Amino acid sequence: MDITLKPPNSLSRPLFVPKKLLMGPGPTNSSPRVLKAMGLPILGHMHEECINVMDEIKEGLQFVFQTKNPVTLAISSSGHGGMEAAMCNLIEPGDTVLIAVNGIWGERASDIAHRYGAKVEILKKSPGKTFTVDELEKSIIKYKPILFFLTQGESSTGVYQALDGFGEICRRNNCLFVVDTVASLGAVPVFTDLWKIDIVYSGSQKVLGAPPGLAPISFSSQALNKVYARKSPISVFYWDITKLGNYWGCFGEARMYHHTISCSLLYGLREGLAELVEEGLPNSWKRHKDCANRLYEGINKIGLKLYVENENCRLPTVTTIRSPPEINTKHVSKYAMERYNVEISGGLGPSAGLVMRIGLMGYNANFSNVDTVLDVLQEAMEYAKHNKS
Ligand code: PMP
Repeated sequence: MDITLKPPNSLSRPLFVPKKLLMGPGPTNSSPRVLKAMGLPILGHMHEECINVMDEIKEGLQFVFQTKNPVTLAISSSGHGGMEAAMCNLIEPGDTVLIAVNGIWGERASDIAHRYGAKVEILKKSPGKTFTVDELEKSIIKYKPILFFLTQGESSTGVYQALDGFGEICRRNNCLFVVDTVASLGAVPVFTDLWKIDIVYSGSQKVLGAPPGLAPISFSSQALNKVYARKSPISVFYWDITKLGNYWGCFGEARMYHHTISCSLLYGLREGLAELVEEGLPNSWKRHKDCANRLYEGINKIGLKLYVENENCRLPTVTTIRSPPEINTKHVSKYAMERYNVEISGGLGPSAGLVMRIGLMGYNANFSNVDTVLDVLQEAMEYAKHNKS
């Protein structure tokens, strides 16, 4: 038989990947150590050496999540997979869930929960604002949900949500506490066991400094009990924590093939975690805070205003800057990228058109990058002032 389609010319050209400074809300640049690890030889997903790397990742994740949960692993997916897995394993059709919505991530969680058949109740705050334990308590008593979802680092609005106290209320009311730490893990404290978080998940591509593609997640024994008590099967095979937990060796039984995990992504995450462990969590938290403070000062000097007014509620990893009405901020992002290969992002979801977002995460969170992004921002603002169309 003849081949009727011609080979694509595009593939005969060399692969082109520019070097960019990723100062948006993620992914962030990976360190040379992480990038080098990604080029190591491919291993089979059941090979002993690959499994050793998985075990090391598990220990690293227990450390960064500050949990003794045996079921702590990384899902083969971007951060959304963590959200899917949390909802899919816990929700049975007809269950009531309570979602805190103050930005796009609560909206996403509600959408996902709906798809698994939940009756979704919303605890709402305007974008930029945070939730209190009292507000949760009232809603929990009113709706009696089986789970409560809260985002620690609301990257669409740049809001940091304090977590202590919420888990106690949840546990007292037989409600599982699910927390999104995709944009915050490693940059701010996450005390999973102490704060009685039942499912916590994150993403590999932000503070952990690895490429996108793995979603760290941890399940408490309470969360697992809800899974074991299900009357209906877990609706997605790929997210099934009983199968994933077996594959990651969390149950002390023989590992069985579940899917072909990317060994290259595992190497990258392993090295990202190793760097974080070497630095120490308190040092990393401080570095992110110091960088964010330097960024706030620079923004102030340029004459711009921060979107989150209460400084205790500012997320150090993603800073949101109010877009001045006289400027089209799309021009700012475009200029920064075209002229300097520096990423400065616009808003997302409820903040679209209202803010510019600057990310400071993991390997990229250093004073030199803060100064660079401030210089580029200032110049790009000048350009945008004079180029309105
Ligand atoms: N939650 C938060 C807080 C995020 O910042 C993101 C990514 N921006 C996600 C979830 C989704 O992660 P991903 O894009 O890796 O699927």
